[in-house]
Amino acid sequence: MSEVLVLVDHVDGDVRKTTAEMLTVARRLGEPSAVFVGQGYAAAKETLARFGAAKVYLADDAVYTDHLVAPVAELLADLVGRTSPAAVLVASTNDAKEVAGRLAIKTGSGVITDAVDVEGADGGLRVTKSVFAGSYTVAAQVGTGTPIITVKPNSIPAEESAATPAEETVTTEVSEVARAARVTSRTAKEKSGRPSLTEAAIVVSGGRGTGGDFGPVEAFADALGAAVGASRAAVDAGWYPHSHQVGQTGVSVSPQLYVAAGISGAIQHRAGMQTSKTIVAVNKDAEAPIFELVDFGVVGDLFTILPQAADKVQQN
Ligand code: FAD
Repeated sequence: MSEVLVLVDHVDGDVRKTTAEMLTVARRLGEPSAVFVGQGYAAAKETLARFGAAKVYLADDAVYTDHLVAPVAELLADLVGRTSPAAVLVASTNDAKEVAGRLAIKTGSGVITDAVDVEGADGGLRVTKSVFAGSYTVAAQVGTGTPIITVKPNSIPAEESAATPAEETVTTEVSEVARAARVTSRTAKEKSGRPSLTEAAIVVSGGRGTGGDFGPVEAFADALGAAVGASRAAVDAGWYPHSHQVGQTGVSVSPQLYVAAGISGAIQHRAGMQTSKTIVAVNKDAEAPIFELVDFGVVGDLFTILPQAADKVQQN
């Protein structure tokens, strides 16, 4: 059975849920091999085993974390050459998508982004992916080289399947070109205690309608155990950090429940949230475009509705 390489998405060994989702898909397609780059493997080991990694390739040399993504692409290209995998799966994050593009060039392969499902098919793999910012879902196949697939978080339910992975430390001769861009400092992520935006099962977002007061949005999010998102208007106004921006030029989310409060529903905002399973909007304008795509809409003032909703949730 061919290996399926899965680039582990983690922060210092804290494995993101997307990795479990990718390992679940990889088990359907072949023998899942996790590629763990960076520090923190001791913390990640149990999760990778629990979700069925048959093998783990460990690359903890500082060269992979000190130079943006190019060395990781070179490492994966080497592994692809060595193992001829059935596919390479990476998360649909900005960094991993860049790795995917570079890897595709190096290996003469095709890339499919934002997969929401992958299955074996005659003559290759059949990938279901969302296109036009989630407006349509299409089937796609890679016709050249090794299929390199970025998997959209929250699209595939992760299933456990315990394994005892073999471990192999790997490295590669990283080129001078790949070393050209050096990381000089990292900004510490703020610790809010809330789930991360891309992984959260529930996201509550605020827009210009908050007038800069995200208090009700955060309180409702906390009542639900949700992450907080923001429209670009709110971010551009300096009311919320860019890392929370949902949309075309922010992050793309697919939670079970997305609540848009004081957000009009511009196409660029939709691009980042319209694949959410259930969408709720609170807007005082009954004609706001966001109401065209919601499952439930509340016409009203978010400063009245959200505190009431938070109270109800807390009572139950
Ligand atoms: P508005 O459009 O001003 O809407 C505010 C809404 O709040 C209105 O519907 C109003 O009725 C309602 N409201 C006001 N007060 C209240 C209240 N008290 N209670 C309830 N409702 C209230 N936008 C993004 O979000 N993400 C992106 O990634 C993004 N990328 C972009 C990329 C490009 C190239 C461009 C050109 C634009 C992009 N935009 C993006 C911007 C986008 O076009 C919109 O301008 C933006 O989404 C509007 O944000 P908003 O809905 O918060 O504000």
